[in-house]
Amino acid sequence: MFSLRGDTSAKFGKEIFTNVFYFRENLTLDCNQYIIVDEATGNLSLFDAGNGISLNSLFEGMKKFNLHYENITKVFITHEHVDHVLGLYPLMERLKNDPPKIYAYKETARILKEGKESKIFPGNLGISPSMFGITIIPLDIKELNDGAKFEIGSDFVFNVYFTPGHSQGSVCFYEPNKKILIPGDLVFTGGSFGRFDFPGGSLKLLTESIKFVTSLDVKFLLPGHMDTSKNGTLEIQNSYRMIQSMGRFL
Ligand SMILES: [Zn+2]
Repeated sequence: MFSLRGDTSAKFGKEIFTNVFYFRENLTLDCNQYIIVDEATGNLSLFDAGNGISLNSLFEGMKKFNLHYENITKVFITHEHVDHVLGLYPLMERLKNDPPKIYAYKETARILKEGKESKIFPGNLGISPSMFGITIIPLDIKELNDGAKFEIGSDFVFNVYFTPGHSQGSVCFYEPNKKILIPGDLVFTGGSFGRFDFPGGSLKLLTESIKFVTSLDVKFLLPGHMDTSKNGTLEIQNSYRMIQSMGRFL
């Protein structure tokens, strides 16, 4: 049977900002991951779980910055798609004695609580959990509402914004003081933006959500795929222009 083989080398990592780390996606259906350190406690918050196969690559990449996965106490999920959530299952297994809390927006939380395979594997991608060596099981998830806030140590206060269009449960995490935006698959660098052709996707909603984030003051754009940027607002404006001109042709 076809199976996806993970790149076992360490994920490329970079400290984007003090205590904010980027770990680049692996090649096969994976996503970028971010770690934020609570300086006082040493606890780590992980943003997105990757595809599961890449979990060891993440752990190896983290070691280079003296970050240890045993210290992950919170996981924040941007949306319910396979490349962002599958890593939750092996992560929870590895940390079963002291499991981190998992946070997700309503729809994403519901899918993960119920273990809804068809929503995690959207459309006709021709892939299944067994190819990743993973069994989807119901997880205990803490629900985040639109407009919620959460703190990471005393340095970071994130706002949660519901930004649908790529998927039904897509959110952005925004830190206004540090000007950090973690948009999942809403916008990427280079004028690109998330797919809207999966079930639950919508070009109209995606356009509206991107328009909303153009109103935020963003320096560090930390998207789910491709590169990060230190010119966030400019990148988002580019993506907004691109999606508007695309809408005109559809
Ligand atoms: Zn996605």
